[in-house]
Amino acid sequence: MKERDENFRSALIYSDELAKFEYSPTHPFKPIRAKLTMDLCRRYDLLERPWIRVVKPSPLDFETLAEFHDREYLKTLKDVDSATLAVELWPDLISSGGDQYLTVDPKILRFGLGTEDNPIFGGVFEYAALSAGATLLGAKMVAAGEVRVAFNLLGGFHHAGRDHAEGFCYINDIAIAITHLLKEGLQVAFVDIDAHHANGVQEAFYRDPRVLVISFHESGKDLYPWSGFENEIGEGKGKGYNVNVPLPQNTDDEAFMRAFSAVVPPLLEAYSPDLVIAELGADTHISDPLTHLSMTNVGYCEAVKKLKECSPRLLALGGGGYDVYKTARSWTLAWGILNDLEPRDEYVGLVGGMMFGPEIEVGSLEDKTVYIKGSTREKVNREIDRILAFLRATVFPIHRIE
Ligand SMILES: [Zn+2]
Repeated sequence: MKERDENFRSALIYSDELAKFEYSPTHPFKPIRAKLTMDLCRRYDLLERPWIRVVKPSPLDFETLAEFHDREYLKTLKDVDSATLAVELWPDLISSGGDQYLTVDPKILRFGLGTEDNPIFGGVFEYAALSAGATLLGAKMVAAGEVRVAFNLLGGFHHAGRDHAEGFCYINDIAIAITHLLKEGLQVAFVDIDAHHANGVQEAFYRDPRVLVISFHESGKDLYPWSGFENEIGEGKGKGYNVNVPLPQNTDDEAFMRAFSAVVPPLLEAYSPDLVIAELGADTHISDPLTHLSMTNVGYCEAVKKLKECSPRLLALGGGGYDVYKTARSWTLAWGILNDLEPRDEYVGLVGGMMFGPEIEVGSLEDKTVYIKGSTREKVNREIDRILAFLRATVFPIHRIE
């Protein structure tokens, strides 16, 4: 592990209030993952260091949210966020137990609200505003040079649109933070390694060369949001500043890192951003119930290491991850890497002779890598070669990369 320089400072942005929200008992997005991550970080001695601060966020106010989002959408989200109002608006729903939800109020459906993916739960506005507050706080701390690295575990809602919710995302904290940084005159790169395409961020800055957006994700041929193909490279002045690496099903650590190393370091070097925002979704994991990649946290950690090396300053965001314990492990490892810390003792979880918690299966936080074989491997490699050749021919020349 390389030495930190003496000026290194970092911030973990977190509050129990944010982690306590619940979309619904059966919804795959579990904010509690952030609390599990904090527990793991504590257990592996990754918090009590003189350069690390754990900082509590505050919710963004309506006006700050409106710097990116549509006012009518925000107002609707705010209005529905009240149990009293819900009873008034949807008495049928309350009495029927929810089945009529989709037919009750077309107005909220227009905004993507009240669906299975984006349910209206108690405190939804507060939850989204607080999560965006955490991301903006991290962005400001990093931009001001207060810290070199910040991590908001409950951030990275890359699917939310200007005027609608989608894909478990109500407020696009990333677009809000980037909008703020652009106003400060900063040049920003956004790198997303979540298994889903960063469609909301792509859409927000598709014609803007002041933001370089790079998204790695399972191909839109096989996975929501069904977009993020390699030929979506930006438009107008923004052409070449939106980069997609759609990964075929079964992509493993080795194949992923081959694509990541070919794309991210040269582009970040050529673009030379003031700071990098990274969405570190852990749903690329082979055990994730929603996706079809074959990665482990070995490839995930390598990507985080490389990102840290290539970023002058870095704001990391948690993003997706639907195997709750695997996600907590990946984020804990990421926090260690961002601070040049090894989790202190893999047996520290032995209490009273019993291993407890998320690392129970393998006795440590780290997975063993998985190698795909035979014709599956050939197919994955061929597809990745094709994508890389396309990007080298179309995007790289715009950035004068040989
Ligand atoms: Zn995802």
